[in-house]
Amino acid sequence: MPYPAFVELCEVGPRDGFQFEEKPIPTDLKVAIIEGLVAAGLRRIQVTSFVHPKWVPQMADAEEVVARLPAREGIVYTGLALNLRGLERAHAAGLTHVDLSIATNETHSRDNANMTVAEGVRQAEEMIRRAHAYGMQPQLGLQTVFGYAAPGDTPLPFVVDLCARFAALGVESISLADSTGMANPVMIRERVTAVQEVIGDTPLVLHLHDTRGLGLANVVAALACGVARFDTSLGGMGGCPFIPGATGNIATEDTVYLLDALGVPTGVDLAKVAACTRRLEAFLGKRLPGKMHRLVAPAEAPAS
Ligand code: ZN
Repeated sequence: MPYPAFVELCEVGPRDGFQFEEKPIPTDLKVAIIEGLVAAGLRRIQVTSFVHPKWVPQMADAEEVVARLPAREGIVYTGLALNLRGLERAHAAGLTHVDLSIATNETHSRDNANMTVAEGVRQAEEMIRRAHAYGMQPQLGLQTVFGYAAPGDTPLPFVVDLCARFAALGVESISLADSTGMANPVMIRERVTAVQEVIGDTPLVLHLHDTRGLGLANVVAALACGVARFDTSLGGMGGCPFIPGATGNIATEDTVYLLDALGVPTGVDLAKVAACTRRLEAFLGKRLPGKMHRLVAPAEAPAS
């Protein structure tokens, strides 16, 4: 199969990346970074998470961030909601798209969500019905699809069943997350093709972490299967507090560089994303794990 004619990158740095940082990021800076990402050509941005601030203090300003987003035609802003309360908040904030997430591993589900996998599935079904009643478009994300404690330890038939069940409920898209960075190109091909067989026209998204350095190799494998949507984070920010050793998402800039080389358009300006990443690095006082943001020329000279 030829590579897709266009790939849509969903920028998840403002959620998956920011929530991992201990240093509080001011709302002004969050909004400025999101504006920079919009200017860089990103058309789908996960801007926050509607979780209790006790669990994720960095996301305590979720409503304010959404209220201050630049309104632009054709841009989709999404927020992560982990329960009905979060969904209600996302709706009240004015979001039209919401990302739901369920665990596929019992240990992960207990530690991360304090419920069983079956309870998480039932809750997600209820959230999807509620989202539809509100006229919102829900994306369903499955966590640790490529392994939790060991590569491949999430049974594929279980993943396929879940995908079939949620596609039938009419979700906007289904995201397979390699939360632990355990996927490899062989597993990508096996699991993506198995899921594609049961989800019909529902778009498939891959959410890849680069924990073992195979993130971009996995992108190539997924492209060959026809996957045309990927989550990425600026500078490769991110991690998971419940997954020891988890590192960030595949970097937006590095993924754009790869797709440019393959001749697959994304509409994203690498240098402009890199400028956002360097601004964050300056604020956080540390290097982010991506590669390309350090190599491209600054898009504009910093104010002196
Ligand atoms: Zn993630």
